[in-house]
Amino acid sequence: VTWKDLGLVDALCKACEELKWKKPSKIQREAIPLALEGKDIIGLAETGSGKTAAFAIPILQSLLENPQRYFALILTPTRELAFQISEQFEALGTGIGVKCAVIVGGMDMMSQAAILNRKPHIIIATPGRLLDHLKSTKGFNLRCLKYLVMDEADRILNMDFEVEVDQILKVIPKERHTYLFSATMTKKVKKLQRACLADPVKVEV
Ligand code: AMP
Repeated sequence: VTWKDLGLVDALCKACEELKWKKPSKIQREAIPLALEGKDIIGLAETGSGKTAAFAIPILQSLLENPQRYFALILTPTRELAFQISEQFEALGTGIGVKCAVIVGGMDMMSQAAILNRKPHIIIATPGRLLDHLKSTKGFNLRCLKYLVMDEADRILNMDFEVEVDQILKVIPKERHTYLFSATMTKKVKKLQRACLADPVKVEV
C-alpha cells in the first residue's frame, strides 16, 4: 500500500517521501482512508505506531481544501508531546505553508496570546493552558474549529484534566470532526468518547 493508495494528494505524498517514510504504518493504513471519508475515529494506539501522522495527514489534506485560522485543535497531556506533535505537523506541512501554535503551561501567557493572534491553522495544546486563553485572551475563540483531536486521552484524563476538557467541549462547535487516540480504553475514556464523538469507527493496532 502506498500513500497515494490511501487517497493522499500529491503535496502530502511528496512530504512523506521527503521524510523518508516509505509506506504508511498499520494505524495510518486503517485510519487515514476513514478520516478522509469524514468519519470520527477512535484509535487504540501507542506512541511509536505512527498515530500522530494518522491524524495529522487527514487534517492537513482537509486544510488544503479549505484553509482557515483555528482549523484544528490537538489536545495532549504534556508539553513534550505537544512539541513533538507540532514538529510532525510542521514537517508534513512545510510545502503547504501551515502555521502551528503550541500552547502549553509554564510559558508566558502574553507571548502565547500574540502567537494566537497571528491566526495559526493548527493549535496543539495542553487543556489547562488552552482554557486560560479561551477565558482571557481577547479576540481568541474556537467557534470556527473544524477538527478536534484528543491525543493520549487516557493520560489526559488521568492527569485530572477532565473539567478543563468538558469546558473546552462547551465552547467549540458540535458540528466538527473528532479523533480520539488512547493507549487504553478505560471507563473514563469511554465516557469522554460518548460525550465528544459522533458514530465513530474504531481502529486498533
Ligand atoms: P508516533 O507514533 O506518532 O509518535 O510516531 C513515531 C515516529 O514514527 C515519529 O518519529 C514519526 O516521525 C515516525 N513515523 C510516522 N509515520 C511513519 C511512517 N509511515 N514511516 C516511517 N516513520 C514514520
